[in-house]
Amino acid sequence: MKDKEIQSLKLTKQQLPQAPRREGHCRAPQPSPTALGFPVMAAQVPKLALNNGKNIPILGLGTWKSKPGEVTEAVKEAIACGYRHIDCALAYSNEAEVGAAIKAKIEDGTVKREDLFITSKLWNTFHSRALVTASLKQSLGNLGLEYLDLYLIHWPMGYQENAALFPKDENGKFIYADVDYLDTWSGMEDAVDQGLAKSIGISNFNSEQIQRILSKCRIKPANHQIECHPYLNQRKLIDFCHKNGITVTAYSPLGSPDRPWAKPGEPQLMDDPRIISIAEKYKKSPAQVLIRYQIQRQVIVIPKSVTKSRIETNFQVFDFTLSDEDIKVIDSFDCNGRLLHLDWVKDHKYWPFNIEF
Ligand code: NAP
Repeated sequence: MKDKEIQSLKLTKQQLPQAPRREGHCRAPQPSPTALGFPVMAAQVPKLALNNGKNIPILGLGTWKSKPGEVTEAVKEAIACGYRHIDCALAYSNEAEVGAAIKAKIEDGTVKREDLFITSKLWNTFHSRALVTASLKQSLGNLGLEYLDLYLIHWPMGYQENAALFPKDENGKFIYADVDYLDTWSGMEDAVDQGLAKSIGISNFNSEQIQRILSKCRIKPANHQIECHPYLNQRKLIDFCHKNGITVTAYSPLGSPDRPWAKPGEPQLMDDPRIISIAEKYKKSPAQVLIRYQIQRQVIVIPKSVTKSRIETNFQVFDFTLSDEDIKVIDSFDCNGRLLHLDWVKDHKYWPFNIEF
């Protein structure tokens, strides 16, 4: 990582005085031995410090929609080229295949368990306190791990328990459970006490819901994972989290073009001529600009890909710096363009998107 880049991240930090502390983990690419007997260049990804003293790599691999038949190879390729952070969830129904890749890369000597940062998420059908650690153990069993680095409440809304992952009535309407996410949070704290998760956090909460947790919790959330990209830059929610010592992870940073409900003809973030023009200026791809944008805002970013060449190029974002001017230009693309609105459950009392942030 270049001095210029470190400088730029420090400047970002000064603009966000209470933002989570950034660790000085930027190093030149380090050779890493492999079972093949020759070194590969696995660049060290910078890390952000969590509020419990642990660190999270600022770039990770997403796995939502990665098919079980593709994800093992994708995660193996990612770890081989330097990714150390993998974002998983029970609801993605592919944790076992992610776990197979982790096992293979530990067994071939590329990494040790402690080099990796593995996140998973508690699904909406397990919100009762007693179900939290049971569900976490199910994820650990799937992944073949003894602990998670980070466990998140996937959404604030609880769904009917002891049923399918997506419980619906005969009219196709989701069936809810009346569980307060504060009870769920107590279950998350149990998971830390039991050593099953090193850190805990939330996903898709609004600022009022976070404040409610902060005012009651014993262990503060370490991370908030939210949809974030130039069409929904989340400036206010990020500032709120950073002021409260909560790191933020940007999901769908490339605009999630493979989201199941995408309609033909809808605008695609990576095809936006304004993003393309900035990418051309830096001789980078639109995806690299979108990933780099989050990193310079001190936001952790988890692009998903199952394509080897994209997994590699999405990682090549530590050799250029977007100017402050270009960051401002990208910020100006915000249009409240939420892609994961889940408005089919907007009558749930904890649906989070009915206030400004
Ligand atoms: P994303 O990362 O914004 O976009 C993924 C899509 O972009 C895939 O279709 C992928 O195709 C394509 N892609 C990747 N790199 C590319 C490149 N360099 N050039 C062109 N296309 C590229 O979308 P996402 O999967 O919604 O979000 C990322 C991750 O965030 C998820 O996988 C998941 O881990 C997490 N997430 C969490 C939540 C939550 O509620 N907490 C919600 C959504 C997502 P290929 O795979 O075919 O290469």
